[in-house]
Amino acid sequence: MSRGQAIRVLLVEDEDGDAHLVKMKLGQTQSGHFEVTWTQSLTDAQRCLAASSFDVILLDLSLPDSEGLATVHSARVMAIDMPIVVLSGRGDTDFALTTLEAGAVDYMVKGDYGYDGLARVIRYALLRTEMEARNNLLIAALEAAANGVVITDKDAVVIWANSAFGRLTGYSPEEAVGKNPNQLTKSGLQNADFYKDMWTVLLDGQNWRGELVNKRKNGSLYHEELSIAPVKNGTGEITHFVGIKEDITERKEMEAQLQKLASTDPLTGLFNRRVFLEKLELERAKVARLPHYSAVLLMLDLDFFKRVNDAYGHATGDIVLKVFAEIARNTSRAIDIAARLGGEEFAILLSGADKNDALIMAERLREQVAKTVIDHDAGPVQITVSIGAATLSVDDINGEAVLHRADVALYEAKDRGRNQTCWFGF
Ligand code: GH3
Ligand code: MG
Ligand code: MG
Repeated sequence: MSRGQAIRVLLVEDEDGDAHLVKMKLGQTQSGHFEVTWTQSLTDAQRCLAASSFDVILLDLSLPDSEGLATVHSARVMAIDMPIVVLSGRGDTDFALTTLEAGAVDYMVKGDYGYDGLARVIRYALLRTEMEARNNLLIAALEAAANGVVITDKDAVVIWANSAFGRLTGYSPEEAVGKNPNQLTKSGLQNADFYKDMWTVLLDGQNWRGELVNKRKNGSLYHEELSIAPVKNGTGEITHFVGIKEDITERKEMEAQLQKLASTDPLTGLFNRRVFLEKLELERAKVARLPHYSAVLLMLDLDFFKRVNDAYGHATGDIVLKVFAEIARNTSRAIDIAARLGGEEFAILLSGADKNDALIMAERLREQVAKTVIDHDAGPVQITVSIGAATLSVDDINGEAVLHRADVALYEAKDRGRNQTCWFGF
């Protein structure tokens, strides 16, 4: 309400003298222009409220048709959002206080209006009502938000949370109040340094934003993007923190899926050539860097695979490729990296392995492939694999060098009659 606008007052007062005093005081005041409508009973007040608009009600509690607190209750119902200022009798302070609980915004002792007291109380009542309405609007907005919103005190104890917080974490806002949000949803998947870094930023007065994995009340994990803003008082001290939580589980799963699609071969699920070359390069750098560290590359090519396709069809060929990939996976250690380089050509990088380890592993794989029988309508299908092996060298300037050596060894294995492992240089 701007200062220039008239404040429309509904005065409900059955005593002529009291009513005249109020009108006089409001007429005299310099602090704003008041337009007073005077009624002498609650029934008349209701009629006035129905006929025109008001900003505030000045309410005497002893009326011909209503008495005491009931008057406040009735007026409250008649004018739900309108501020009510009670005009109480002298020496009735205790009772006047209870009228505030009944819904009055303030009270004044009749006659004690001072020079400008009544106008000031009315103005303050309007301001407070306006602020409350604004507060309710903001809370409604926060409640409508899809993201979880949580407000804590300076010690990170929750004082308010919205319903989206409840949907996200499984903890109702009532359950969350009084607790530390991190204690509620900590998954243990972020280390102490993560939280330490976060607090360093926040206590420095800066906003913090990060992604983390949290745990719901039911124990399930979810990905969350969390933004926290410190709230400061007039002297710059942090008094609260506001956290906004967004559930990014779906996005994370999608990213992981895209990452997987981009890095694996769709038929066999093994790494693709691009990723394999990246990993080979990392391993080469490790061999160059660490003394006594060794690694071996195996190149594998199915023998006479074209015949499988020709005899049983391409679909069966695909099944054979999948079965072979499964055997390669099962024969490798967790740290080994198996990939389909293309067609029926595969590679396995044996991290930290020496020649002896590698030969044992290669032979085990070769034998397993040779004895595997794949059922097919047209009869059992059996295949063999030829393997070329080479050690990564400290002198290799890139991964291509060792790929070439392993390839030479593979051709040697093919030349010697297939279904065997050949070591480069022997
Ligand atoms: P070698 O013992 O000399 O390796 O003989 P090979 O028949 O295995 O070798 P070659 O390179 O002549 O033939 C490979 C065949 O693999 C030819 C190609 O049609 C087939 N192939 C390549 N990719 C796929 C695939 O994704 N699925 C199927 N079913 N066959 C494929
Ligand atoms: Mg082949
Ligand atoms: Mg081939």
